[in-house]
Amino acid sequence: MKIKQFKLFQCCIPVKGIKNGIIIDFQRKIIHKVSNQIIDIIKEYSKKNIYDLFNDFKETKKILKSHIRYFIENELVILSNSIDSYPSLSEDFFSPVILDSIGIEIENLSASMENFLKFKIDELGINSIRLILKSQNIEEFIRILVLLETSKIKAIVLYLEYSATMLLELNSYVKENPNPRIAKLIFYNFDGQINKNDFDEKFRFEKLSVNDIFYNETIVSMNDFVLDIDVYLEAIKYNLMFNKTLFIDSFGNIKTHREDSTFYGNIKNDEIKEIIKNNAFNLFWNISKDQIEVCKDCEFRYICPDGRIPYKTNSKDPNYKFKTICNYDPYEGKWNS
Ligand code: SF4
Repeated sequence: MKIKQFKLFQCCIPVKGIKNGIIIDFQRKIIHKVSNQIIDIIKEYSKKNIYDLFNDFKETKKILKSHIRYFIENELVILSNSIDSYPSLSEDFFSPVILDSIGIEIENLSASMENFLKFKIDELGINSIRLILKSQNIEEFIRILVLLETSKIKAIVLYLEYSATMLLELNSYVKENPNPRIAKLIFYNFDGQINKNDFDEKFRFEKLSVNDIFYNETIVSMNDFVLDIDVYLEAIKYNLMFNKTLFIDSFGNIKTHREDSTFYGNIKNDEIKEIIKNNAFNLFWNISKDQIEVCKDCEFRYICPDGRIPYKTNSKDPNYKFKTICNYDPYEGKWNS
């Protein structure tokens, strides 16, 4: 029997940008660059007779054939007589946790923060914490680790203002107390001279301020994209950086992110489970890249973990913006450096 119908495999997702398109093979973790026109054709003829496709594009049959051959060789498409037995991907996204990660700033470890760390972290399902320790007190950091000891936290990233004394103290603490949960120890405002080989690879030294680095995980190259189907499903509807996150400042105020001027409650008196039901709060989680200028035109928007804060300069403007320019230009299809 002749093979008649074709469609992309479930794990191969086409995404159009303003200039270029891609097909992301999430199983093999490969990005295939294709033209938007080819994506349109694949979509239009998906599940249809492949010979119709060649008939309709007689003049470009040769080019089309080479594309189809490429797709078959790279196992991007299924050719079958019973194409309906290959279901398409459901675009539902489900996360079992209330919060995935949080940012916390601590100046002095208050009783309410101790209570939060000890009892609320697991209740909310939090996987990772980014902690700015303003107090520069290693004893306070050790106390925090003790409070989190029995929690299910997987990663702790610590931000500290650089001080030579603190660096030495922390270095000997980490050496003597190896803790796989400590993912990174980042010193900001770094102006010292050190031999990085003397320190564990978890240590990072940044010349910039904490304001400049906390939400500034920008994209440098294709290697930064995350080729994970769950990430893709989340990115279709939500902001990858801010969905299921919040920030608690040094007074216990709860905000969407560190620079947010609105307080939605305080850990002393309010329940986070209730706060996140507030539409004004969770609206921020829903700012997908499709609503952000430039990114909405980028073919990498559903695999891009760029961590900048989206802003609205004008409330009438339907889209958000970033304050800085991305290293990738989707209008030219080029990397700037
Ligand atoms: S333009 Fe936006 S979506 Fe594209 S790579 Fe840059 S930050 Fe990511």
